[in-house]
Amino acid sequence: MKDLTGIIAQQTDIATGIRMLTEEFPGQVVFSTSFGQEDQVLADIIWRNHLPVRVFTLDTGRLFQETYDLMDLTRARYKQPFDVYFPQTEAVQNLLREKGTNSFYDSVENRKECCHIRKVEPLGRALQGAKVWITGLRAEQSENRHDMPVLEWDGHRGLYKYNPLIRWSFEEMIAYLKANNVPYNKLHDKGFISIGCAPCTRAIEPGEHPRAGRWWWELSKKECGLHS
Ligand code: SF4
Repeated sequence: MKDLTGIIAQQTDIATGIRMLTEEFPGQVVFSTSFGQEDQVLADIIWRNHLPVRVFTLDTGRLFQETYDLMDLTRARYKQPFDVYFPQTEAVQNLLREKGTNSFYDSVENRKECCHIRKVEPLGRALQGAKVWITGLRAEQSENRHDMPVLEWDGHRGLYKYNPLIRWSFEEMIAYLKANNVPYNKLHDKGFISIGCAPCTRAIEPGEHPRAGRWWWELSKKECGLHS
């Protein structure tokens, strides 16, 4: 894998890069999609090229209706299955019983607790058995992502993270979506850039950072723990 790491990192054709990884790790390459614009690019590449990648998403139970609409639109367009992971019922029940419906507004700790229950724990289950995790991360999305390599070893999770869009600009991404007529979330037409859970995402103003609409009431770094 040592040599392949360098080859993959320099591979500009994403379909070829993914295919090489699926040949190296058959049945162990997964792609997590939140149906954002970056993820729609990768889903299109994976399904258009019939790449043997298991695709999954996390349904936190708090997503926008527009995101559910896009899930169905995407399923109809590509006619490909994807797994949907939900939080543990008991963990959500305990959280709501003890702290109410929207405890994430009260403190960063509460917000992280909700993200852990609804995202991080289900992600851990979804990644079980995977050796390569394909993500739609782009460096421009967050200051935490500027140093991320295209392919990196995640020692915490025990797998490779493949971030083929990490150096893509916003304009490149939009150009790909338009050129290939890829379905997208209608909220993007209303000023939403980075779209997560409904109570934790707002539209942004022109000139604001793309992640400014996520957990906008917090001043700390805007990450949910999935990629930390
Ligand atoms: S984004 Fe908000 S609602 Fe979604 S899991 Fe995190 S805190 Fe909970």
